[in-house]
Amino acid sequence: MPDNVDALYVPPSAEPVVKVLVVDGDPSCAQSLDLALRSRSRRRDDLPYQVTAVYDSTEALARLALGGWDVLVTDMQIPGLDGLALIDAARVLIPNLGIVLVTGRATVDTTVTALRDGIQDVLVTPTTPTEVAESVTRVVRGLRRAATVGQHRVLAIGAHPDDVEIGVGGTLLAHQAAGIEIVVLTLSRGAVGGTTEQRARESQHAAEMLGARLFHLDLPDTMISAGPPTVPAIEAVVAEVRPTTVYVHSGNDQHQDHHATFRAATVACRQVPRLYCYQSPSSSLNFHPNRFVPIDDWFEAKIGVLRCYQSQMALRAYLDPELIRATARYWGFHGRTRFAEPLEVVRDVAGSSLAGQEPPALAARPPHVPSQRNGPGQPATASAEVPGVPAR
Ligand SMILES: [Zn+2]
Repeated sequence: MPDNVDALYVPPSAEPVVKVLVVDGDPSCAQSLDLALRSRSRRRDDLPYQVTAVYDSTEALARLALGGWDVLVTDMQIPGLDGLALIDAARVLIPNLGIVLVTGRATVDTTVTALRDGIQDVLVTPTTPTEVAESVTRVVRGLRRAATVGQHRVLAIGAHPDDVEIGVGGTLLAHQAAGIEIVVLTLSRGAVGGTTEQRARESQHAAEMLGARLFHLDLPDTMISAGPPTVPAIEAVVAEVRPTTVYVHSGNDQHQDHHATFRAATVACRQVPRLYCYQSPSSSLNFHPNRFVPIDDWFEAKIGVLRCYQSQMALRAYLDPELIRATARYWGFHGRTRFAEPLEVVRDVAGSSLAGQEPPALAARPPHVPSQRNGPGQPATASAEVPGVPAR
């Protein structure tokens, strides 16, 4: 360990700044991250960042004890305490500290543990300075949103990369425009449909475009269970995000992973006030939507998000933009708008305290389709609200 950690890399100070502490033995990594963050903040007219690098957990804790830090970036393997133990100690010192954990392998156990510990983002090595900078930016953005519009949080759950974007990409873009916090949870890495590395990059890029945090687990593609470990994995994310609205696959879906994800999510999200199911290309003819979210303003952007999945565009006929357009146009006819995304309402507790805080919004609702997907004991939804979707 160097005698003077400042020798590693400490840039000039400027106030006000977002202060980032990086625990890494390589000074060039912190310098690259600093440059990447400066570039991002200039482009986005954001607050400037100040990156400070330290070598090990002892020095990190000494720095954290001085206070004033916004984000901690640490590897799982560092000299001294391991990364998770450092994070535990850091949380005691600065409870609202944003945390990015870099690890060699994001197993389900690692990710679930990380989420339970309140870690906002988990990155898998190898990472680039740009990827770490994007993660830090997302965490800072999330912390700011939590301080302002923290009551409204959306969680979109999909079995595979691209499921969420196909089902509710336009709805999520509307939420993003309303400034609502969005989290995407993808349960598998999609190994059956391509290389997991490429699909992970595509997922991350799509999440960026949605303004969403991405939790990407590693459950077995085509063999996702409706019970453990899926239920506790989703429960961990729900405990971390505390969503007021959840979107998930429909139970009326012929893909075994989609169906299992629906069943697991209905258990794991039993306390969430609003639970909606979206359409997938494998949805059966029993998919009966009773809520239609107008996405006229977001349709082209949704197509742009789907283009992130280049590895699948050539393989999957269901990603044909013409089909996406025709489907949205068809549901738009039902919803009395041009383009719409259809939802089955499992639960919409309009009278709950959380739901009562949602901003007014409107989604078209057909007069001829009864609300038949509400959960046991829940009344049919009389309102046509989808949080964060602008009134038309
Ligand atoms: Zn899928």
